[in-house]
Amino acid sequence: MKRLLKGGRVIDPANGRDAHVDVLIDGDRISRVGRDIPVEAGTRVVEIPAGLIVCPGLIDMHVHLREPGQEHKETVASGCAAAVAGGFTAVACMPNTVPVNDNAGVTEYVLKKAAEANLARVYPIGAVSRGQLGEQLADIAELRHAGCVAVSDDGHPVATALLMRRALEYAGMFKMVVIDHCEDQTLKGDGVANEGFAATTLGLRGIPGEAESIMAHRDVALAELTGGVVHIAHLSARQSLDAVRYGKARGARVTCEVTPHHFVLTDDMLISPRPYDTHVKMNPPLRDEIDRMAILAGIVDGTVDAIATDHAPHHYDEKDVEFDRAPFGITGLETAVSLSLDRLVHSGAITLLRLIELMAPGPARILGVPGGSLSEGAPADVTILAPDLRVTVSASTMRSKSKNTPFDGWQLRGGVAATVVAGRVVYVNDAAGLQM
Ligand SMILES: [Zn+2]
Repeated sequence: MKRLLKGGRVIDPANGRDAHVDVLIDGDRISRVGRDIPVEAGTRVVEIPAGLIVCPGLIDMHVHLREPGQEHKETVASGCAAAVAGGFTAVACMPNTVPVNDNAGVTEYVLKKAAEANLARVYPIGAVSRGQLGEQLADIAELRHAGCVAVSDDGHPVATALLMRRALEYAGMFKMVVIDHCEDQTLKGDGVANEGFAATTLGLRGIPGEAESIMAHRDVALAELTGGVVHIAHLSARQSLDAVRYGKARGARVTCEVTPHHFVLTDDMLISPRPYDTHVKMNPPLRDEIDRMAILAGIVDGTVDAIATDHAPHHYDEKDVEFDRAPFGITGLETAVSLSLDRLVHSGAITLLRLIELMAPGPARILGVPGGSLSEGAPADVTILAPDLRVTVSASTMRSKSKNTPFDGWQLRGGVAATVVAGRVVYVNDAAGLQM
């Protein structure tokens, strides 16, 4: 079946395009992009209303789908439903499941569940170390052949410099990036919040930014030593941006991502509006305003390569405990686009083109996966954004199984109008006035 997206503003950073053109989808591929594409018999014509943006399908390179093992928090199917409702046509899922994705059996299981769900594309990320124990390398060749696109011990850092060195060398043989959750565990200790005024006021144990940046510096040095490719996950501290800038300036193969919660919120949220709110407990923690501004600067100046959500669903009961005992993490798939449009684009910090670059070609390039462009012949993964749509975040109606978001009730400008994966319309937001 052919579908013609007619007359919309198309923003496709990979091709340097920002223009009102038509996009013709034929089956699961982009067939043509251009002005006034003639309509053949049998083609479904979709008039794109003024104000909507047609862009390459967004890719979230950092999510936790929790299956296998923690299906009370999320399943591959519920996570994929949340993804497409959030405008993501593809997600890369971290290996800290139960059991850990450190072998082909788990990778194939996740891919089978993703095929059954048949919504967003799912790219599994394999473990760096067996059982994510930080001791022996996992069989990275086996993970690659089973379908993993990267390796990470996320949830934990790659434990030692030697293990990181070996991982970079081994993964490099398969053209895979090593994604690191940078955290010096001796500095982090049993900290639960950013080390600073808010934590001190509430009597919470702090985690300094250096717990992250020391590891980021280590990883940059090892990327340089090995020629391997390292990606810093959910960068939160200003000092870590310096590590990435230093590495990039020296030609080390280092990239980084930031999350919407780190560029929108600060640790003031620990105190107000709800003191000790476990919905603002995440790892790395929300940091202070200086860090938040540093992250914004990194987004603007190109130091930051991608926006990722670190979607970390937890059941209500697990978060409904004392702050110290609550698990780290919040959901992110269904709020990322609205937060990014509202706080990055409408604030004037960056253009729509830059935002799309951070959410589609950026992650595609880092992971080496298809997508991220509307090139002719590319997979027909398309997101249609509604930058001016007024959105009220509603946790209770989210597709994710878990509702642990600090953004419930927030009013934001910007949302998702529709999501198309492999030529199939998998999500339409009725509020956006689009007839797919
Ligand atoms: Zn992490």
